[in-house]
Amino acid sequence: LQAAPGLDTTATSFPTTHDKIQQVGNSPYFVNNQFVQSSTTQFIDLHDPATNNLITRVPQNTDEELKAAVASASKAFETWRNTSVLHRQQIMFKFVALIRENWDRLAASITLEQGKTFADAKGDVLRGLQVAEAACGASELLKGEVLEVAKDMETRTYREPLGVVAAICPFNFPAMIPLWSIPIATVTGNTLILKPSERDPGAALILAELCQKAGFPDGVVNIVHGAHRTVNFILDEPAIKAVSFVGGNKAGEYIFARGSANGKRVQANLGAKNHAAVLPDCNKNQFLNAVVGAAFGAAGQRCMALSTLVMVGETKEWLPELAERAKALSVNGGFEEGADLGPVISPQSKARVESLIASAEAEGAKILLDGRGFTPAKYPNGNWIAPTIITNVTPQMQCYTEEIFGPVLVCLNVDTLDEAIDLINANEYGNGTAIFTRSGPTAETFRRRIEAGQIGINVPIPVPLPMFSFTGNKKSIAGGGASTFYGKPGVSFYTQLKTVTAMWSAEDAISKKADVSMPTHS
Ligand code: NAD
Repeated sequence: LQAAPGLDTTATSFPTTHDKIQQVGNSPYFVNNQFVQSSTTQFIDLHDPATNNLITRVPQNTDEELKAAVASASKAFETWRNTSVLHRQQIMFKFVALIRENWDRLAASITLEQGKTFADAKGDVLRGLQVAEAACGASELLKGEVLEVAKDMETRTYREPLGVVAAICPFNFPAMIPLWSIPIATVTGNTLILKPSERDPGAALILAELCQKAGFPDGVVNIVHGAHRTVNFILDEPAIKAVSFVGGNKAGEYIFARGSANGKRVQANLGAKNHAAVLPDCNKNQFLNAVVGAAFGAAGQRCMALSTLVMVGETKEWLPELAERAKALSVNGGFEEGADLGPVISPQSKARVESLIASAEAEGAKILLDGRGFTPAKYPNGNWIAPTIITNVTPQMQCYTEEIFGPVLVCLNVDTLDEAIDLINANEYGNGTAIFTRSGPTAETFRRRIEAGQIGINVPIPVPLPMFSFTGNKKSIAGGGASTFYGKPGVSFYTQLKTVTAMWSAEDAISKKADVSMPTHS
């Protein structure tokens, strides 16, 4: 097995700096447990967001290569589906151990390609690792049910794998989101074709290497590359039975519609605009730290970033302190000691975020803290935006209606808790929301009435651990949230229920006449 690209095979050797990283070749794809160089002529350049140095070129796999990945996964399914759950569990234990051993190496790849700080990248790996750890409980998760439904008659259920399944991933969590799929899809007996984001596939390729080392048979996990063309191939390929998508609304709504029209199961987690309501009775210091961390961490490029602050009553007077704390954050290359946030993913993303800040100004909002134009001395060419706070925002403004996905916090003022709830409920997204209060009844009222899927009570980024599920709501999830990622619903997504009804009577049938009425089992 060759090493994953750009990075050494050994867990102790990986980049720890943005310096001198230049193109190290083209990223391979991964099929049949082998890294393979694509024969394509089309590549997508991948730049370090801190320097804009070219790091690697990501191939747009050819149709033949994509078909070969499907053939590999289809062949592997024939035997993988018949392995025992205990066997698959043992491989998962090894996979978990290997992720732990390669934790820093995975994080380094993320910092280099995605830009987030090394500490934050380690968290990205951890949140995915926890899904793999939960998948080790497959023997419990896959248990069926049994009931004696009538005299001498029982019905029991089995959870069976679907076949070849696919995952299409976004750029912002290069390890966590592939790990929402790899462990659960495979431990339930499916084989997988995963397309990482073309903007940072390095972590997924390291994970592929670890799958091979953990003992996954050839073809159980495959990694293919590309943009729209690869996505369309996945959506139209009959052998692929289910598609897990995480990303923005434009791609996700299209993928949900086309995949569903082709008869596939599709789960799709989409964009967000997460609000925090802050009440005057909250623990002010805890709130200030929490919102600054959750708005600007990862340069705001988290689907659960707290990007919108609803300030109830006199809490608006805390804005100068909030701005002080945001201003104190260190914006720097992700490998630098003490860096709090890195660059945004691309020059295009930087330009888009800056244009949304400009639109707020033009529409009458106030830029309380302006992060435009900031550049760390060591990295003159990166995609930098420092923390930005926009106040006096109203719901009609573009900075409110659009997901910004940058280090920008928009602030609105209301007078009462009721107004805060109405405002949040009127927003079309419903991924997550948080309330900051010391009052139990206030928090409980908020919990009951709010229409977002993941609620934090004094918790700024309430992403559930994998013994629960990721439960976005409204426009933040396609298909009305019928299918959610990881936890028991994740296992349901990747399995088909089969029910068996059996009769074992000790008595011989004596009547010679067939009963033609609908059996009632009474
Ligand atoms: P994106 O939608 O641009 O890309 C996601 C994937 O879709 C990529 O693999 C990309 O190649 C593919 N893609 C993009 N445009 C496409 C198109 N027009 N047709 C077919 N395929 C296409 O998302 P992104 O910029 O990589 O990620 C950021 C977005 O993801 C944000 O909106 C964020 O909120 C969302 N996100 C949501 C969650 C969640 O759980 N709700 C988690 C992480 C990210």
